[in-house]
Amino acid sequence: MPLSLTVLGTASPHPGPGRPCSGYLLRGAGAEVWVDAGPGTFAELQRHTDPERLTAIWISHLHADHSADLLAAAYALAHGGMTPPAPIPVYAPLDCARRLAGFFGRPDVRFLSGVFDFRALFDGHTVRHWNLRLSSRAMAHDTEAYGLRAECQGSVLAYSGDTGPCEALTELASGADLFLCEADIDRHREGEHEPRFHLTPEEAGEAARRAGVRELYITHVGPTLTREAATARAAVAFQGPTRTAREGETLPF
Ligand SMILES: [Zn+2]
Repeated sequence: MPLSLTVLGTASPHPGPGRPCSGYLLRGAGAEVWVDAGPGTFAELQRHTDPERLTAIWISHLHADHSADLLAAAYALAHGGMTPPAPIPVYAPLDCARRLAGFFGRPDVRFLSGVFDFRALFDGHTVRHWNLRLSSRAMAHDTEAYGLRAECQGSVLAYSGDTGPCEALTELASGADLFLCEADIDRHREGEHEPRFHLTPEEAGEAARRAGVRELYITHVGPTLTREAATARAAVAFQGPTRTAREGETLPF
C-alpha cells in the first residue's frame, strides 16, 4: 500500500462545524499513525479506520488543539469496546501521560496501560515503526513542541506541528515529497525581539523553498486569515506546487 496522508482536521485554535482542530492519519508501510489528536479528530478518524487498528499515535505538543482528543480515544479504547490487541505506542512530550491522568482525576495513567504505551519525544528522537522511519525535531513554539518527518523507501512526509521560523524546520522538511506546514498567523506583532511561535504564509512558503520540497500543503490557518488567502500567499513565497489541506482529503506521497 502506498503512503498516504488523510486530513482529519485543520482548524486553529478551536474546532468549527465540519472542521476539527489538527489531526491527520498517516498510512502505509504496515503502519496507521494518528498524527495529532485535536478536538473533533477522533470522530473523523473513525470514518477512515478502526481506531483499534492504529499502530501508533504521535502528538506534536500538548496544546489542546493538538492533543485534547486523546481523552476521547482513552474513553473509546478503555471503555467503549474498541480495545486494541496491544497497547498503542503514544509518541508525545513527556508530560502527556500525567496530563491525561489528570483529566481522569488519577495520579498516573497505569489504569490506561492496556491501551496506551507512552513514549517521550526528544529532539532527534527516531524510531523505526513498521517500515516507516519516524523522526522528531524540536520546533520553536511556546511549549515543548516537535515536527515530524516520516520516511519509507525514499518517500518523505514532513509536518511542522506548530512552530515559528527556525533552522530545524528547514532541516526537518529537507527534500520532502509532501510538506504539511502551518500558516497560522497573518503577520507578526511589531517588535524585532518578540519570540515567534507560528508562521505567516510567507514564512511557510519560504521554509518550503529553502527545504526544496516537492509540494507544500498548507494547514492550521488561524482566524485572521482565510485558507485560500494563506495558500495563495505561501505559493508566491514557495514558487512551487502549493495546496490547501482540507478535511476528508487523502493525498498519496
Ligand atoms: Zn500550539
